[in-house]
Amino acid sequence: MELLIATNNRGKQREFAGLLAPNHVVTPANLGLKLNVEETGTTFAANAEIKAKAFCAASGRLAVADDSGLEVDALNGAPGVLSARFGGPHLDDAQRCEVLLQRLEQAPTGSSRNARFRCCVVAVAPDGRLCAATGTCSGQIAPAPRGDGGFGYDPVFLLPDLDLTMAEISAELKNRISHRARALQALLPLLMETFPELNLRPSA
Ligand code: IMP
Repeated sequence: MELLIATNNRGKQREFAGLLAPNHVVTPANLGLKLNVEETGTTFAANAEIKAKAFCAASGRLAVADDSGLEVDALNGAPGVLSARFGGPHLDDAQRCEVLLQRLEQAPTGSSRNARFRCCVVAVAPDGRLCAATGTCSGQIAPAPRGDGGFGYDPVFLLPDLDLTMAEISAELKNRISHRARALQALLPLLMETFPELNLRPSA
């Protein structure tokens, strides 16, 4: 049974595929599906549901979508649900990291650089059955970008226990500790319970 990974983001697709293995996953591109869903929700949960429902309706398959982002304490939780668009729609990941560092420079002295990635995953079947789970990963915003792995804000997200940014750790380690990993780990038993006919297998 195939699960449709309801995202066009290559970084997320790689992570989902690793996290849901040994189950078979397909991407929108595998199905020739071109869909850009507007994220009109004000919460990660609402946006994940909007995306999962849109991809499910367009493909007729069980679709798993996530909505995720970075919350920085000194910025009162920004960029939050606006993480992908922070600083403007035409910036690339590196430019968005720079905007974040600049905003933190403008924050009051002594402001907390504590931050967390948050992820909500939602699975929706064509018959309307739905399940959802969330995960977080805590850290701090680094003084400058480091590393070239991962995507998005990974180069500025410091894991203080390791003294490495999320872009400096291996994909395998990220897939064990990330917000998305935690959300998907929590989702898997719910998927098995909600969709028993899929015969899903637990990840290794
Ligand atoms: P969306 O979930 O596709 O709406 O966008 C989430 C945005 O949050 C991404 O475009 C990234 O900027 C950021 N983000 C989410 N997950 C990660 C991650 O694992 N690493 C770095 N940035 C992330």
